[in-house]
Amino acid sequence: MFKTAKQFSFDMAHMLDDHDGKCRNLHGHTYILQVEVAGELCPDGAKRGMVIDFGDLKTLVKQHVLDKMDHAFIYDVHSARESQVADLLTRLDSKVYGIATRTTAEAMAKHIFDLLKTEAGLPVSLVRLWETPSAYCEYAE
Ligand SMILES: [Zn+2]
Repeated sequence: MFKTAKQFSFDMAHMLDDHDGKCRNLHGHTYILQVEVAGELCPDGAKRGMVIDFGDLKTLVKQHVLDKMDHAFIYDVHSARESQVADLLTRLDSKVYGIATRTTAEAMAKHIFDLLKTEAGLPVSLVRLWETPSAYCEYAE
């Protein structure tokens, strides 16, 4: 079995409601996203010898992840405080993206994994999300 991966970067704002430190405040990160896909080589046709065409991987990650999240305020739809910020930003014609969980690196790595697996149909084997240059979370099933 082969594993191939591609790296992406995007910017996002968030806040962690109920956090006991500075992360409860609105702030942002330049995230580095590494998406790994596992499989056998395509036996014939235009993609012969590839697990996945890196160009196709880029297109799918852009469509299902980056177009939604890049330069957005990502928030937990169950948090009243974060939802208030999202409502204000929406009224101000600013980009928001709600998920049904706290927006930790752990939850976002799983959310991105699930989007790529179920929505994009990718044979994704690992998602590694760097929140800072020294801190990442990875999710695999
Ligand atoms: Zn943060």
